[in-house]
Amino acid sequence: MGAPSDTIAAVATAQGRAGIGVVRVSGKNLQPLAAGLTGKALPPRVATRASFRDADGRPIDDGIALFFPAPGSYTGEDVVELQGHGGPVVLQMLLRRCLELGARLAEPGEFTRRAFLNDKLDLAQAESVADVIEAATEAAARCALRSLRGEFSAVIGNLATQLVDLRALVEATLDFPEEEIDALDRKEVAGRLEKLSREVALALERSRRGSVLRSGLQVVLAGQPNVGKSSLLNRLAGEDLAIVTEIPGTTRDALRQTIQIEGVPMNIIDTAGLRDTTDRVEAIGVARAWEAIGNADILLLVVDARSGLASADHAISGRVPEKLQRVIVFNKADLAGTPPRTEKTADGWQIHLSAKTGEGIDLLRRALLSLAGWQSADEDVFMARERHLSALQRTAETLERAGTELARSELLAEELRLAQRELGTITGEFSADELLGEIFARFCIGK
Ligand code: GDP
Repeated sequence: MGAPSDTIAAVATAQGRAGIGVVRVSGKNLQPLAAGLTGKALPPRVATRASFRDADGRPIDDGIALFFPAPGSYTGEDVVELQGHGGPVVLQMLLRRCLELGARLAEPGEFTRRAFLNDKLDLAQAESVADVIEAATEAAARCALRSLRGEFSAVIGNLATQLVDLRALVEATLDFPEEEIDALDRKEVAGRLEKLSREVALALERSRRGSVLRSGLQVVLAGQPNVGKSSLLNRLAGEDLAIVTEIPGTTRDALRQTIQIEGVPMNIIDTAGLRDTTDRVEAIGVARAWEAIGNADILLLVVDARSGLASADHAISGRVPEKLQRVIVFNKADLAGTPPRTEKTADGWQIHLSAKTGEGIDLLRRALLSLAGWQSADEDVFMARERHLSALQRTAETLERAGTELARSELLAEELRLAQRELGTITGEFSADELLGEIFARFCIGK
């Protein structure tokens, strides 16, 4: 997998009109391109006021040019960044000029892919670049940034180092087949293996808890008309509502909306809209919502505290999958005259509150976060991807198998080798081209 050498260019800022727009170029030796564009040599890493010109020397735009010589740049190659006015036409003219000067259009994620191939970032960090950009809440953005800065990779790297040491210890005995591992060494190996397994389990746990920040929690909201579902949602979301952005891949429609609680996105599927319909478009929406319900985590059933569960509530509760964790909200506690409280029953949580006065809302927020396996936004979690979770899971399983082979050095060594390989797929030490293609294809162009 050699590093590519051609020059790539793309508009790096979002489509549309804005104060400033950036065209980014990366490649080997970009001085001639920069000179062709600005009519002068650009000093390294200095904001240079420049006039960007077309082939005939006519100005396209006036702006700022930045030149980052290799290897001290994002991609590790020469990088030129042109900051012009953020209009789609001007930026396209500027981009076209870069193509005339020898660049080709960058593919999605190609800048970051080059950064990875040139060892500026490992694979987990490269993935977190996309996660920072796509973060749906502040907590998700902070968590992704921690991964980008290498915290997650450092934990994985530490596990890998311990594995390498352990392998060395075990493999040393392989070179002397006549000498079996003596009891002392075996005890040492077993001890280290146990410590490693504990740490892998901890990393997996931290990653699992953080992964809820990526995908959010799927909550099915049910209840009779007028029990206070909308009031409850508004209350729950509180001031956070305004800054929730859509999680990529989810649609926001009449049946679904996203709120956040302490930065954990909650995708609410409102069953009030789930009616039998002859309208084809609506029917598609309803079918999709049921599909989402099949993958949901929590059923939030709202009832009027004064009347309790109605037969229609039992009907919906019976229709959603058994595996959903259930929370029954006895709303309008102010009218029922009951104090706010939480009860945990065999059937799930029951919470008495008032959406109107806000009393008891905190109990519900805490219940939802606890069901999400989330404790606090400051927690030391990683916003890991499914791919990382599976690799950590497989590492844990391999180490467990290794633990059963303590007496057979060769099998033990092989399991340890496999475990190290699994860890290596997270940071990209061992990664197939297809995997890289898959990861970077989901990036935006210009990143
Ligand atoms: P939905 O149809 O289930 O979405 O119910 P709404 O949220 O629209 O609420 C129906 C009515 O009940 C509105 O007039 C709300 O102001 C009122 N309401 C909602 N929650 C409470 C509550 O906790 N206490 C009182 N007193 N009224 C509430």
